[in-house]
Amino acid sequence: MRKYLTIFLLLLATVVVGGAELLAHFRRSDGETPNVVLISIDTCRADRLSCYGYHRETTPNIDALAGEGVLFANVISPVANTLPAHCSMLTGTNPPYHGVHDNNNYRLPDSNVTLAEALRERGYVTGAFVSAFVLDSQFGLDQGFDTYNDDTEAGFRAAPVFNERSAEAVNRAASGWLEEHAADRFFLFLHYYDPHAPYEPPQPFASTFSNEPYSGEIAYVDHHIGQVVDKLKSMDLYDSTLIIITADHGEGLGDHSEDSHGFFIYHSTTKVPLIVKAPGRRKASTIDAPVALIDIVPTVLGHLGIPVSPGVHGEDLSPYLVGKTPPVKERHIYSESLVPTKYGCSPLFGLETAGQKYIESLRPELYDLISDPGETVNIVKEDPQRASVLRQRLRDLIVEQLRTQQGEAALALDNESIQQLESLGYVGGPVKETFQFETGNEDPKDFVQIFEKLMVVAGYFYSGEYDRVRRLCNEILAIRPDISTAHLYLGKVTPADRPREKAHHYSEALRLDPRLAEAHFALGNLRARQSRFDEAAWHFREAARLAAHLDEEDQNLRRALARIGKVDPMLFNAHFHLADTLKVQQKVDEAIAAYREALRLEPLSMAPEELGNIKAIGHFRLGDLLYMKGSYDEAIQSYQTGLRLRPDSVPARRALQRTQAAYAKETPP
Ligand SMILES: [Zn+2]
Repeated sequence: MRKYLTIFLLLLATVVVGGAELLAHFRRSDGETPNVVLISIDTCRADRLSCYGYHRETTPNIDALAGEGVLFANVISPVANTLPAHCSMLTGTNPPYHGVHDNNNYRLPDSNVTLAEALRERGYVTGAFVSAFVLDSQFGLDQGFDTYNDDTEAGFRAAPVFNERSAEAVNRAASGWLEEHAADRFFLFLHYYDPHAPYEPPQPFASTFSNEPYSGEIAYVDHHIGQVVDKLKSMDLYDSTLIIITADHGEGLGDHSEDSHGFFIYHSTTKVPLIVKAPGRRKASTIDAPVALIDIVPTVLGHLGIPVSPGVHGEDLSPYLVGKTPPVKERHIYSESLVPTKYGCSPLFGLETAGQKYIESLRPELYDLISDPGETVNIVKEDPQRASVLRQRLRDLIVEQLRTQQGEAALALDNESIQQLESLGYVGGPVKETFQFETGNEDPKDFVQIFEKLMVVAGYFYSGEYDRVRRLCNEILAIRPDISTAHLYLGKVTPADRPREKAHHYSEALRLDPRLAEAHFALGNLRARQSRFDEAAWHFREAARLAAHLDEEDQNLRRALARIGKVDPMLFNAHFHLADTLKVQQKVDEAIAAYREALRLEPLSMAPEELGNIKAIGHFRLGDLLYMKGSYDEAIQSYQTGLRLRPDSVPARRALQRTQAAYAKETPP
């Protein structure tokens, strides 16, 4: 978390550029410059809110806010994954423009302008309180925030890789910030993660919604949104604050065979709530016209009278907030999912317009959203002409918004390299960044069942439920024997005392997908334990080679990592284990080179203390090898470097003394 420097100056004094003139420009006619509170409820399907017609009262507090604001009934998120959707929410642009298409493997490029940046430039104090690791500041969403509180370990309840904190913890953190900035003009971004799986609402919501815990999580978040509203009221800020409630994406809940989100682009996962309560407003209204998540940025800026930057794709809906209707425009609302490309399937691209939705894939889909809001009857064969028109519009929209194809040819390459430099890969398979139609070996619709099982496998694996992992992987392989990931997980969960079975699964995984660095690494360790050192060394070399991303596509990832001076942790580990293997084999020179290579590397996402320990051991072992070679002066340096990291190591101190003595003997004064 960044330390925030408190500014006690009046807003007028903080607006340095243009001073009072500028302030007058964006001050509304009623003389108030509102605060802005944007609340994002992760994984919140619009139709589960009672104000969106759900049959149970899930959201009394949001309903009350909607009772004094504008409820947009049809709001589409361009992508059903947390990081890219939030990038769209906060930049007002679609993924082909902002460049983020998936979680974790991406970082929002600095060339994007976020709402926080636009508001900070106008003198707003900006603060964000996010509740899941996927929005950690390293992924770039912190741009423009004076305070970006991503302290998700403070209240995490799931496995460490899925760090998150509860709405209660978010409110606790944000409450102090609000009090600190009560006198400032502020933009507060709150992100609640609770409705995301696992669905485990605390009491009393667990009991009230015992048969539908997902709704219970939404009710739990609603309760805490009520607390935020109460807080604003108690601080006398409610009537001077623009409040926006929305979500990054929905949740499949079994619709279209999708339980969670991120794979398909149907409304179950792309339709989100959007409720906007303007300052001083007391009247409810509902807007049925289709709008988009990317409209939030231009709407907030429009309401504040701040010019919207030309790159923004969203529409300014702010006239609705003051009881007016903006000029009617035919909307073409974009959506995408590149996630299926991870499994060799074709990507999905959607275009929604005039009550119809077209989805591009190997088997294209067309839906009449008026008669078939559930998108269950594909009418592409009944209306091929309409499908073809929408397909062409979709293609045009992608070409227009894809930044790598914009501008002059000379700039195109530059833009492309910038975008790819910024995409930061560090775990798992990245999506294939393709915007070509008719690519991939399989239609995602034929793969969804396997995808769902794989998602569950990952969940069980991280919570240590290995029997369930085994059962599911065998189920997957019974249907699809070609799924390398199933073998990879089977390898991971097979106990160490069954090395042959373990090795079999890793080898099978590699046969199906020779790029699995992780399988090479695991096989290397197995072989080393069996004293088959030549094989072990070969596997570690392969793991290192693959982790170094030698193919053209991943060169860019390596450059992105190089920009921040880090490498894939697999690269570090593979070099380190290779060095250990070579040391055991007494291949002194090769081992020295491998340790030097490993120690040069700074792996991403490894705790500094843990890394320090490992590196110290590396320096000690390198010292031993150099001592064996008689390179005493270099050995002394290695021991000393290691001892700076781990001063308490007695054997290393002894080795250093021994080497210093040998050195002194060799070079008499
Ligand atoms: Zn999400």
